[in-house]
Amino acid sequence: MVEPVGHERQRRLLARRPAQSLLFVGPEGVGRRTVARWFAYGLNCAQGFPPCGRCASCRAEHHPDLFEVRPRTKTRGGQIARRPQIHLDQIAPRAGAEEPNLIEWLQTAPRHRAKVAVVDSAHLLGEQAGNALLKVLEEPPPHAYLILIAPSREAVLPTLASRSLTVGFGPLPTEQLRSLSENEAALRYSEGAPGRLMAALADPAGLAEAESAAKAWVESLGRDAAELLAQTEALRRLAEGPFDPWVFVAQAWEDWPPPAREAALAALLRAREELEAYVAADLVFTRLALTLRRIYADLRAGSPLPR
Ligand SMILES: [Zn+2]
Repeated sequence: MVEPVGHERQRRLLARRPAQSLLFVGPEGVGRRTVARWFAYGLNCAQGFPPCGRCASCRAEHHPDLFEVRPRTKTRGGQIARRPQIHLDQIAPRAGAEEPNLIEWLQTAPRHRAKVAVVDSAHLLGEQAGNALLKVLEEPPPHAYLILIAPSREAVLPTLASRSLTVGFGPLPTEQLRSLSENEAALRYSEGAPGRLMAALADPAGLAEAESAAKAWVESLGRDAAELLAQTEALRRLAEGPFDPWVFVAQAWEDWPPPAREAALAALLRAREELEAYVAADLVFTRLALTLRRIYADLRAGSPLPR
């Protein structure tokens, strides 16, 4: 079992077993999955909460009473799926299915005390899969718990959200993460999410590359458009890798005056939404770069230069 970092209030709530259907919402890497697994270990621990780490259940590396479903990123033919999704056969029994499904798994008796099914990225449930899951949420077997993981309550089908208790997970204070590492670039990149901190620490060279590309991009805002677009292309390619350089770009706007900063963040948010809606990335980034260039030009004309 991996001990979660932070989220003490949420863990105190969960230790009271507040509901059988739970919806964990919060930013990527903040610890929703780790707390979901901790909850499964706590429910099954011979000592109860917090899990002792020593009993037979706690010592299981892959817990027999924990089942996790996540979106398929490949099609049946082995191609990269255009849109990752959780399919019906992952949730409900289907003829010819190759993998175990959540509903059948949940209906058998637990090896220890309680079964926990985690639906990772519940906002990517297909419609049929979502409807099948709804039936379990309405009437879960007595020993069963369901945890849906999503970025926000709004991102999940309303019928699923309304039948689950929402538990919110926010970024942790940097001071809390400092107990894990004092690497400043990694702490900046983490934005309070321990999972992001760990990923950053595992690949310092990749992180440094993302940070310096972000810095070069911000500097090119004041230069000619061709150079800005060349830097934008570099950032677009980096964004496909493990680290999102736009996190560092947005941090560079923090000392801009509020109207310019807000306009810049709104443009970035719009770009992220367009990418999630599968608008072509080069188009999205080109538009973002040109919008930012305009904001920067206004800023420079109207007020003192940001450092
Ligand atoms: Zn235990």
